[in-house]
Amino acid sequence: MKHLRRWVMSLSAAVATLATIVGLQLATPAQTPTDLTLEVAGLTVEELADGVYGLIASTDFPPAEPATTAICNGGIVIGSDGVLVVDPFHNEALATLLYETVATLTDQPIRYVINSHYHFDHTGGNPAGDALGYATLGRGPIRDWMLTRNVDSDPNPTPPDVIVNGPGELWLGDRAVQLAAFEGHTGGTDLVIYVPDVDVLMTGDLLFTQRLPYAADGNLRVWQTNLEQLAETYPTAIVLPGHGPISDRADFDVLKDYLAYLETLALDWKEQGLSEEDAIAQTIIADEYTDYLFQGLFSSNLSTAYQQITLGQDDAASIQGYFAHQPPELQAL
Ligand SMILES: [Zn+2]
Repeated sequence: MKHLRRWVMSLSAAVATLATIVGLQLATPAQTPTDLTLEVAGLTVEELADGVYGLIASTDFPPAEPATTAICNGGIVIGSDGVLVVDPFHNEALATLLYETVATLTDQPIRYVINSHYHFDHTGGNPAGDALGYATLGRGPIRDWMLTRNVDSDPNPTPPDVIVNGPGELWLGDRAVQLAAFEGHTGGTDLVIYVPDVDVLMTGDLLFTQRLPYAADGNLRVWQTNLEQLAETYPTAIVLPGHGPISDRADFDVLKDYLAYLETLALDWKEQGLSEEDAIAQTIIADEYTDYLFQGLFSSNLSTAYQQITLGQDDAASIQGYFAHQPPELQAL
């Protein structure tokens, strides 16, 4: 119980840290949609396969112009009688830009919006789709997390109205889209989207490519195992990560190595008996990661590693313990 309480506290502190990094800036009013172009938003549209597109965000973090710059990637899957979109960014203007982009690619109507996990950079745009009557889907405790943890960063958290907790399949006319649950980045809300006929996978933030990941409310060990499972399950897929350029299975290994590097550092600190403050102060990022974006997340990642590995406060057992005290529908996760 003690461990569990500490885990929940460190989780809350970590989310508060992220909100502090970007929250106040993101709360500034969004520009009207007509002002916003893909170029201003820092997005490029890339065709991943026939009828499947990624809107790739190029920004560093935090962005210089948070109200108009997309932080994460968005996804579009076009079928013979409808469209599914993934992660409508962090405000309504950016979500509207995503929907306007769909209209330049197809006449088919948007039917589904998927939130790959609860973080506000992927979900803050939900109200735009809600107003247009699109069904929004998410996983596990996403409603609960959005309505509690996102309130400091999202002025109007609007959680999904359809919850998918196990493997699922949506049909867009003649095209199937599979949904599957994986773990590691955000306790119980990570959902991947797979288009089998063209072997395209959209991972949300289970994958960051050429960027340091946001690890503070993930689980460093569970995440590594799930990256292995993703590589095994989708060995040849073209991958749209949550942040970064179009990727493939080799990028799962690269992120896994980074998380393992954090784990090794944290075990060394434990052996040396270092305080968290001293451990962070004496650690310089390894050369191979110095040209990554999102460098501002490094010290937060060290702090996460210290809490989870050095102190052992956030292992898989404590997460299971946490869910055991949640309502029955969440215990099935
Ligand atoms: Zn993200």
